[in-house]
Amino acid sequence: AKSSGKAQYAIFQPGMHDYVLGQLQLANDLVGALDRDEFYLEYQPIIALNTSHILGIEALIRWQHPQRGQVSPIQFIAIAEETGLIIAIGNWVLQQACHHLRQILLAYPSLDRLFISVNLSAKQLAQLNFVSWVTEVLRANHLSPSQLQFEITENLFIHDASRAAQTLEQLRQLGVGISLDDFGTGYSSLNHLYQMSIQTLKIDRSFIGDIESLGEKWDVVQAIVALARIFQLQVIAEGVETPGQRQQLCGLSCVAAQGYLLSRPLPFQTLLPWLDNYGNP
Ligand code: C2E
Ligand code: CA
Ligand code: CA
Ligand code: CA
Repeated sequence: AKSSGKAQYAIFQPGMHDYVLGQLQLANDLVGALDRDEFYLEYQPIIALNTSHILGIEALIRWQHPQRGQVSPIQFIAIAEETGLIIAIGNWVLQQACHHLRQILLAYPSLDRLFISVNLSAKQLAQLNFVSWVTEVLRANHLSPSQLQFEITENLFIHDASRAAQTLEQLRQLGVGISLDDFGTGYSSLNHLYQMSIQTLKIDRSFIGDIESLGEKWDVVQAIVALARIFQLQVIAEGVETPGQRQQLCGLSCVAAQGYLLSRPLPFQTLLPWLDNYGNP
């Protein structure tokens, strides 16, 4: 415990003090970051392994902090969720991503089946009238619901699972795709696969990194693909970094992939010319 003039922090262990202050400072900076235009999006392509065609792009938020430089979403998304700021930030992400997809489709009309994939947190989904707001954002950008996919994690079902399931079902009815992110790492239950309105499983990159050794992780990946077939779900493998991993996944039918091998996440201004490889039939 501290015995200085700042003894009000005495409940914390020494060392935690700096950590907690750092988190509080980050939370404090996060409050105005949206208004100060410090966020932008990068997009990472999702590629079909059998045809090498582009299926979609995942929107990933970036924070350019005026003093700290780039702050990783790993560091600030959790704080945004705890403070509730994720609602405003996440809603901005959806609007910005839809706006960018609209720009892409104007530049490349042949990519009309391209979808945008947006990470969705539990608090966003729990907003009143979320589904009608999403409908409005799509309409304002001349997009059809099938051009949007939400990525959710299993944590979403921990609190108020029935309400979350209901809203997801409304989104599915509308025609929006739902994918289960980081599959295999969370509070997994087979119930989710057939009770929830999910169309796609994203296999977490912690499983993909080691598949070339043909060990347990490869067994798990094969099992997930088999499971997906039973439940008629699409599969996306995350974090594909090597040609060997790609080739191995190619052997499993119907797998799409995302990862540094195919492309790093790209800022919008870089994504547009990059799409030239795909946009002209
Ligand atoms: P995620 O949804 O699992 O996103 C994939 C992460 O893997 C991204 O990290 C991406 O840059 C990274 N990645 C992609 N390919 C590779 C690869 O081949 N190798 C390796 N090592 N990494 C790869 P990022 O951008 O740092 O995002 C971290 C997490 O932050 C995301 O994980 C997601 O959970 C969250 N996040 C990002 N943007 C948003 C957002 O707009 N809203 C919400 N709620 N969460 C977000
Ligand atoms: Ca994701
Ligand atoms: Ca993921
Ligand atoms: Ca992941």
